[in-house]
Amino acid sequence: MNEYDSQRMAQVLQQDYRLTIAPEEADVILINTCSIRKKPENKVYSLVGRYKCLKDKKPDLIIGVGGCVAQQEGQRILERMPYVDLVFGPQAIHRLPRMLEDLSRNKTARICATPMEKDFEIPSIKGPLPDSSMVRTFVTIMQGCDNFCTYCIVPFVRGRETSRPPGAILEEIRRVVSEGIKEVTLLGQNVNSYGKKNKEFPDFAELLRLADRIDGLRRLRFTTSHPKDLSESLINCFGQLETLCEHLHLPVQSGSSRVLKRMNRRYDRTGYLTKVERLRKACPDISLTTDLIVGFPGESERDFQDTLSLLKIVEYDQIFAFKYSPRPGTRAAEFEDQIDEEEKSRRLAEVLDLQREIGSKRFKALENTVQEVLIESADQTGLKGRTRGNHVVHLKGNKNLVGKLVMIRIDKAGSHSLQGSIIPNHALQLPNK
Ligand code: SAH
Ligand code: SF4
Repeated sequence: MNEYDSQRMAQVLQQDYRLTIAPEEADVILINTCSIRKKPENKVYSLVGRYKCLKDKKPDLIIGVGGCVAQQEGQRILERMPYVDLVFGPQAIHRLPRMLEDLSRNKTARICATPMEKDFEIPSIKGPLPDSSMVRTFVTIMQGCDNFCTYCIVPFVRGRETSRPPGAILEEIRRVVSEGIKEVTLLGQNVNSYGKKNKEFPDFAELLRLADRIDGLRRLRFTTSHPKDLSESLINCFGQLETLCEHLHLPVQSGSSRVLKRMNRRYDRTGYLTKVERLRKACPDISLTTDLIVGFPGESERDFQDTLSLLKIVEYDQIFAFKYSPRPGTRAAEFEDQIDEEEKSRRLAEVLDLQREIGSKRFKALENTVQEVLIESADQTGLKGRTRGNHVVHLKGNKNLVGKLVMIRIDKAGSHSLQGSIIPNHALQLPNK
């Protein structure tokens, strides 16, 4: 979501500004922030502090802090860091050109724009993508979240769930495809509940079917899926829709029904495992990834063991595991049975050790298979691409293959990526689209 927001920032500003990756060259530095856990929030302050010395040398430099920390802290950022000129929330991105113009005109002005509209609709941004070498991109289909999982700050900083009209979504996909994008990931905090509040909108499975028909689109993915709303019709899209990749990120958060209940996730261990079974039946090759939290308040050793055993049952290709981090305003931050940091670290290390074994086994099984790979980038060491199952593949080859789909034999599996080689004369059967 943040990557997409950064892209939109670059896109709305490209008429007036040029992108640079060198901060000392910049006239404007925008820092996009995440407040999902305490650690990224802390990083913002140290990063902004580092840019202060650039401003000492170049007083006209504009420093802006955007994203969820900006939304959460608002005016407090301006108070705490007098050299920050602009604080802007996720719902103010489209106003950036105007705000930066005001700031350049009035050197002493400082702006805090953190609106939180109930039915905020993401404005469509016209104009080309900020980086013409991109081969895949995100398209947001909804904003905000109504689920209020007890650990999560998202509903407070991103507002209520609103779905973007299907016409705007399909038009944005068509536009990025016309600029050379091959792969689109549909984004939302809970894409499975797309359109539920708007009777005239298609549901998420229908939206996927509409996107699948777009000429020139080769790959479709989506994230994030809440397990409670994973419908039978969505499960059936896997293996049926040509562009839909055989990968699903399905955050479980915990393997213990007791913890899931306290997290307010509204599914239990059995319900989750049943959905995994259904998915594997509908699409045996599907690769699954997940998010999980260790050390949630009150998580006993037994609950933790339930998480480990669930990992062994599901056999994810990859997991993103986090130590529980209390967030301001959330219910779980007030729970009294918080787990100490040392214990959280031990559990995290144990989860990651187990997953290393499982992931290696899953990756190893891909050795000697043939995979369709979309080549995403090239550097001195070679090419990098991704399988439909979302595994990263490194290979040798000409850099003009970037943006192409090629058939690759997987030669060797590492624990997080694969090495492969192009199969000579293997013409990829391209659908007639
Ligand atoms: N909407 C997505 C999650 C978005 S947040 C979903 O419902 O699955 C991404 C991940 O950050 C979550 O899946 C969760 O594992 C983690 N996370 C969220 N809040 C957290 C917290 N307070 N402490 C630790 N991890 C957290
Ligand atoms: Fe946060 Fe839960 Fe909403 Fe995901 S579904 S964004 S974890 S409140």
